Amino acid sequence: MLLSWNHHHLLHSINEGYHAAMLSGHGLLRATRLTIGIPVLTSGVGLRRPVLTRPRHAGTADPKMTIEKFEKALGSLDMPALPYGKVEDTGQSHTPTITSRLSEGLCSGLPSGLEKVDYPKWEHSPGRLDYHDTTYIHTSQPMRFGSEGHVTSPLDPETTECFISGLFKRKIAATPDIGTRMLRPTSITYRISESPGKGLGLFATKNISAGELILVERPLIITPRNLPSKRDHIPKNLTLHEMQQVFLHDAETILQYTVERLKPDRKEAFFKLANSHLHDGSGPIMGRIRTNGFGIGIKRSNEADLEEYCVVCDHSSRLNHSCSPNTFRKWDLRTFSMQFRAIRGIKQDEELTTEYCDLLIPAHDRQLLLDHHQMKCSCAACSNPAASDPRRRQIYEWEQRNRIVARKGFDNDPLSLMRLTELLHLLISEQLEVTEGCGQVLFMLILLLVERGDVLTSEMLAQPYSTYLLATTGVHVEPEALLTLEGLSEVAMRLRL
Ligand SMILES: [Zn+2]
Repeated sequence: MLLSWNHHHLLHSINEGYHAAMLSGHGLLRATRLTIGIPVLTSGVGLRRPVLTRPRHAGTADPKMTIEKFEKALGSLDMPALPYGKVEDTGQSHTPTITSRLSEGLCSGLPSGLEKVDYPKWEHSPGRLDYHDTTYIHTSQPMRFGSEGHVTSPLDPETTECFISGLFKRKIAATPDIGTRMLRPTSITYRISESPGKGLGLFATKNISAGELILVERPLIITPRNLPSKRDHIPKNLTLHEMQQVFLHDAETILQYTVERLKPDRKEAFFKLANSHLHDGSGPIMGRIRTNGFGIGIKRSNEADLEEYCVVCDHSSRLNHSCSPNTFRKWDLRTFSMQFRAIRGIKQDEELTTEYCDLLIPAHDRQLLLDHHQMKCSCAACSNPAASDPRRRQIYEWEQRNRIVARKGFDNDPLSLMRLTELLHLLISEQLEVTEGCGQVLFMLILLLVERGDVLTSEMLAQPYSTYLLATTGVHVEPEALLTLEGLSEVAMRLRL
């Protein structure tokens, strides 16, 4: 299907397409790394979150505080370390199976006067789908449904233990070919070894080409970013810290059920993951989710609204952060897997990296977010913020401008050839091939050049754009197919760009 050949209309349509992609398809399937305190936080999808600040009234009793207000308050606040430092196991919050295997970071108990809430340990029927949208259930996924509606096993032996809403479970069940066999890399591409100052990391065992598949994994667990509370009320005399304690305690209780359902080898893999939240009241499970979780968003029925989840994997959770990452990660619902491809060529023995935070905010703000992972970034951009910050700022401003244009209609300004060429230079100098902006700039540049009949330059850009598409969508598009307006619009529609 082709778009109209009116140039302005074409640009506008494609721009609209970009906007749609940012709000729905590919843009949101792109998994984001969790950078926040605890799962009751209610901020956005993980991108461009306001710079976090400390709660002004932390530690003081607030007689008017309710759970709802508390959750709202946390929406824009960083959770400070709890005042009592490393907390001791009170024996209240863990089943013997779990306490016996752990010696660190145990969750504090409940403030005195509060009863433990009994969360239902639902071993529900795997085939059941008639849950309310907001009812949360423990379930093993992906389940496949046979022609007569009966549940069958996934094609790959690994299953993910999930604590998800009825809505999400129905989305999984309704996904065509759910549980399709995962596409694996054709050869071993990485090893896990010590990364100086960062614990373990993944390193390339060979030269890897841009676009090449590096790692595909079925997650160990998926849990909500905002865990639902079963408590009707909490006493009004609790301090913010005590409320935090209640939420962390209750969250840990729920998550125990999820982790207890893991098969022994997968449970062991989960507990081998790093926990950088040993001193803030997180339990051992919550601490590991906060350290290792990638964020994904599932569309609610009104499309613009998202349910957010944390995805914890085994090997890929060991990927370290870089502000110029060399892999692109993507959550694929159909194969129920987290996938990583090289966004640029990677040399043998080079460390493989992903991003834990928004890459376009200033270095200082990135470091605040990375503090949650107890890591200090020493990448080129962080080492020289005076040079890097203004470049990233320009890219950010262009992305924002492009969004507004996409929303309001065609405007020639952000699409000018010179501006786009400048942006491409900035993106390359900052090694930000992983950003959506990079794909947008390449696409628009090729579009303008094809329209102007500049065959040589558009040919030069078609190959990098084809590689970008492979790395970010897994789809191979011949560079030649990108050299006509028909080809470009077909690609944009096919990939929902
Ligand atoms: Zn950095």
